[in-house]
Amino acid sequence: MRQKIVAGNWKMHKNAEETEDLLNELIDKIPTDIEQRVIVAPTFVNLSAAADHLEFTNIEVAAQNMHQAEGGAFTGEISASMLKSVGINIVILGHSERRAYFHETDALLANKVDTALKHEMEVIFCFGEELKDRQSGQHFNVVENQLKDGLFHLEASAWKNIILAYEPVWAIGTGETASPDQAQEMHDFIRDTINKKYGNAVSEDVSILYGGSVKPENAAEIFSKPDVDGGLIGGAALKSEDFTKIVLAI
Ligand code: 13P
Repeated sequence: MRQKIVAGNWKMHKNAEETEDLLNELIDKIPTDIEQRVIVAPTFVNLSAAADHLEFTNIEVAAQNMHQAEGGAFTGEISASMLKSVGINIVILGHSERRAYFHETDALLANKVDTALKHEMEVIFCFGEELKDRQSGQHFNVVENQLKDGLFHLEASAWKNIILAYEPVWAIGTGETASPDQAQEMHDFIRDTINKKYGNAVSEDVSILYGGSVKPENAAEIFSKPDVDGGLIGGAALKSEDFTKIVLAI
């Protein structure tokens, strides 16, 4: 069954105290009887505390990244088993900021996905075209290649642990969101591409989130599109009022 999901990517924001404050506000504001999944992704240093804090709530916790190796001499990195050991079962991989600033390639991401799945984690796999790709009419090609190179080596059965997040780079943190029709058009294309490779059972079940300047003001219209199953929220996830409104807009 396709799930509705709203996830907040906190990026490099919120120290320990601020993390606790925001989590307390979210616990207060987000109703416990909703069907949609709610996920937050604080920074690595606050993940363990966040997982403890949210243990008996309906809010789940994800990591923003992870290393592909099981362990070893990789100064500054975090492994899947370390995440699992503090109660983290979801990881965001392939965010455009990781691709752009930390040179993460599709091949590396395919590797990270394999490691995460091996550890029975769920993966929120991010991808999306840059402005130049859209301007040159290459956006469908770019998205198709990211999807194929990052995920199409997987067996069909692995897709139950994959959540997709289409995030056009030109819409991230810019205040410019893809129009609901642009989002729907791309989500439909993504589902169709998956359908061609894996068939209906996989393509109809996978949740495809939209990310890029989602705000309380535009969330309901974007979420109303049939192939948009939720959102990956950046800036607006840092304020409990805004994030709650977006969670409830689905
Ligand atoms: P903004 O919502 O700030 O545009 O960020 C989106 C994003 O990158 C979520 O991962």
